[in-house]
Amino acid sequence: MPASDLEQIVNLAKRRGFAYPSAEIYGGFRSSYDYGPLGSLMLRNVKDAWVRAMVQQRDDVVLIDASIISPPAIWEASGHLANFTDPLVDCTKCKQRFREDQLDDPTLCPNCGSRDSFTASRAFNLMFKTQAGVVEGAGTDVYLRPETAQGMFINFMNVLQTTRKKPPFGIAQVGKSFRNEITPGNFIFRTREFEQMEMEFFVPPADGQQWYEYWCNARLEWYVNLGMPREMLRLRPHDPDELAHYSVGTSDVEFLFPWGWGELEGIAQRTDYDLKQHAEHSGQKLDYFDQATNERYVPFVIEPAAGANRTMAAFMLAAYDEDVINGEPRTVLRLHQRLAPYKVAVLPLSKKDALTPTAKAIFETLSDRYMVDYDETQAIGRRYRRQDEIGTPLCVTVDFDTLEDKAVTIRERDTTEQVRVPIADLLTELNSRLGF
Ligand code: ATP
Repeated sequence: MPASDLEQIVNLAKRRGFAYPSAEIYGGFRSSYDYGPLGSLMLRNVKDAWVRAMVQQRDDVVLIDASIISPPAIWEASGHLANFTDPLVDCTKCKQRFREDQLDDPTLCPNCGSRDSFTASRAFNLMFKTQAGVVEGAGTDVYLRPETAQGMFINFMNVLQTTRKKPPFGIAQVGKSFRNEITPGNFIFRTREFEQMEMEFFVPPADGQQWYEYWCNARLEWYVNLGMPREMLRLRPHDPDELAHYSVGTSDVEFLFPWGWGELEGIAQRTDYDLKQHAEHSGQKLDYFDQATNERYVPFVIEPAAGANRTMAAFMLAAYDEDVINGEPRTVLRLHQRLAPYKVAVLPLSKKDALTPTAKAIFETLSDRYMVDYDETQAIGRRYRRQDEIGTPLCVTVDFDTLEDKAVTIRERDTTEQVRVPIADLLTELNSRLGF
């Protein structure tokens, strides 16, 4: 059974070192998290799995890494300066702030229960603004990007000219974005600093709808292929009145969080809005000349935009399980092997020196290929439990027989099944079990 309460993974995250509340020694910094030794590995694995599916396994998508600090001109052209706002209301009784569009009843304060106590709604721009320049107060205004997407639009011509790509093709990016959210919360679901995984797919205008449908399906399958139960996922098309100003069609991939369905990713058909906006504002041509048809056109764009942190939380919730092994309850994180922080743990049965050289040699061989944990403290049963709880798919145990038979025991996380394997065959055996 997946976690039914967010606290189950918040506690596990803190206890085992996935994510810690930020600046804890100074009393904390609201809704910010620092990723610990396991969380930083898992977050990287989520991003790597995305790059693998979206870039590595395709010949029509390339990766870029654009800057975070950006001039106002970009956000003027994209519409963010005018439109990237949330409706903000304050309760005059309890002074709490809310996003008006998230209130169940726009006249009732969910904090203190007062009725008709809200101020008029104000449009609050979510972008973080700061100054670049050495003289305080005399610098130029700059913004921290609230999405990675604009990096792809402003580099459209650069990529077109420096690669041999032509529509249909995509430009992908993974990186930090910043939004001054009015109501951050729900662990790493909504924070002010987060990582996005976005791709802009440029197509001939007539093919827009077909590619939109293609990407809606492909993106949903990505989560299923990484072990997320299909019944915890759904694709929700936006109602026409919900659509962003640039979109003619958007569907969200939603996950069944403990508090209900929540967005993991939005797939939008953005037409030629962004390229046209940047062409107009920059005075540069941002279009494509198709030599085959002798036609010049501004490509339409399909954008799958996902969040790495939110997705990581969803994978943890879905993988969380509690069962009983030999009469003992255990917590197990049934993570897909690509997402698990460690693929294998090497566990010498005892700390005695006799086992160390063999165990260390195995660690060295395996850690050349993937992340491997090495743990020689505590009873073996407790070490298995720890690896189960952090999602390690396989453990390799080195015992005293190993010195005689040159073989080790492989233990599987999900079934707890154990098999004896010659050290000479270990790497092949592990790779085949991991599917690498
Ligand atoms: P929401 O409606 O939840 O605020 P959004 O529709 O504004 O999200 P997009 O602009 O479509 O989000 O961004 C794409 C993805 O980036 C989201 O699906 C989500 O996974 C992630 N994301 C957006 N805002 C945040 C945030 N504050 N914290 C964590 N992840 C976020």
